Amino acid sequence: MTLRRTKIVATLGPSTDSAEKIDALIQAGVNCVRMNFSHGEAADHLQRAEWVRAAAKQNRVQVALLADLQGPKIRVARFAEGPIELNTGDGFVLDASLDRDAGDQHQVGIDYKALPQDCAAGDLLLLDDGRVTLRVESISGDRITTRTERAGRLSNNKGINRQGGGLSAPALTPKDLADMQVAVNIGVDYIAVSFPRNAADMRLARREMKAVGGDAALIAKIERAEAVADHATLDAIIRESDGVMVARGDLGVEIGDAYLVGVQKRIIQRARALDRIVITATQMMESMISNSLPTRAEVFDVANAVLDGTDAVMLSGETAAGDFPIETVEAMARTAEGAEREPEARISEARLQQNFSSLDESIALSAMYAANRLKGVAAILCLTESGSTPRWMSRIGSHLPIIALTREPKSLGRMALYRGVFPVALNYEAVPSLRVDETAIRAAADLGYLKPEDLVIFTKGDNLGQLGGTNTLKILRVGDFL
Ligand code: PGA
Ligand code: MN
Repeated sequence: MTLRRTKIVATLGPSTDSAEKIDALIQAGVNCVRMNFSHGEAADHLQRAEWVRAAAKQNRVQVALLADLQGPKIRVARFAEGPIELNTGDGFVLDASLDRDAGDQHQVGIDYKALPQDCAAGDLLLLDDGRVTLRVESISGDRITTRTERAGRLSNNKGINRQGGGLSAPALTPKDLADMQVAVNIGVDYIAVSFPRNAADMRLARREMKAVGGDAALIAKIERAEAVADHATLDAIIRESDGVMVARGDLGVEIGDAYLVGVQKRIIQRARALDRIVITATQMMESMISNSLPTRAEVFDVANAVLDGTDAVMLSGETAAGDFPIETVEAMARTAEGAEREPEARISEARLQQNFSSLDESIALSAMYAANRLKGVAAILCLTESGSTPRWMSRIGSHLPIIALTREPKSLGRMALYRGVFPVALNYEAVPSLRVDETAIRAAADLGYLKPEDLVIFTKGDNLGQLGGTNTLKILRVGDFL
């Protein structure tokens, strides 16, 4: 078993579509698969989930399933005669009432009918991730008249962002609600909500999920300028979510990529401080879509996200549609492990000044404090029901594995994304209470970690199986039990 702490999320797609390919991805180190609901049908996602579950079981690892909802991505419609070329200075009209397939050299339709109301003269619209930019000159009725500032090619269904953000499309479309039902039926561990503007959008998403019988963890994709415009908005979104994604594709287009580096660090820092998890995503090893090795800059990017404290790094097109999906996961795993060797990633001064708010949080953080400072400790073992104890633990930097033993299938999937946490299934209900310590140590030793002379820090609740009941911290010598 690998000791890599940073988790890898891989997006599934045509390049990974067989039981064998998914098995190879998992063997290469994928901890979570992303099913991208912007592409494919319900049956495709269901099939992929089945392959993942079979391969995870075969390889005896936990792999989380993440369903990523498309959200209100604003796009141009289609061109009757294929892609067009826009030159600097060309006039071009976005027309909400134009037929879907009637685009030409002078105009194109838009699916988001309220775009003309959201725009004003002087706005800069960024198409296809900013490859083409259009300056709004005037608006009349459904027509936005623009002039081309950055020239380029424009083809069907390319995205539209506004520089500075502020487009008002609500975060959940009818398609998202239908997809949410599909995701709940599949039983995914995580659902990612695209383009939330504020905490209310996340509350709504949770209500809608509960209404269709779901209880997945929710990830807010931070990809609108207004989500990071001020500290209060970002913190409020994080608090309403179980985790966030630094969705660098859309976010970079809206705020400008020069600001993105600092904002990534801020999002990761706030998520950790608020006890939520965080995924860093998009174009991490983009060149590996068609190359078998990453560039030096891509290696730095992944390593820097690890040093920033991210729980997971994510691959998109690299695995979904690339020529080297397995090699990319291997390169990412190698890079993350390398970065984790830095003392900066191993030693933590976090929360030394902070007061704790509950008994179980106090146990969790005390365990990390002791583990990081007592010589001879080889692992932290924790018996957990909901996974909150290991989540608190994993907010503190450490080089020691946090082995989270649970009988709760839902927690196993979720914990697969927590940095430094290694989820293990253990049915402690069947264990007589006097043998719980021994059983936990044996389960951890089975992973191949522990030697007789090692110490472990062990946490549990006196009343096993009770939520939020962790109240005990022990230090045990492995050799006394094995
Ligand atoms: P997407 O989200 O890949 O669904 O667009 C991630 C991002 O915008 O970075
Ligand atoms: Mn996006």
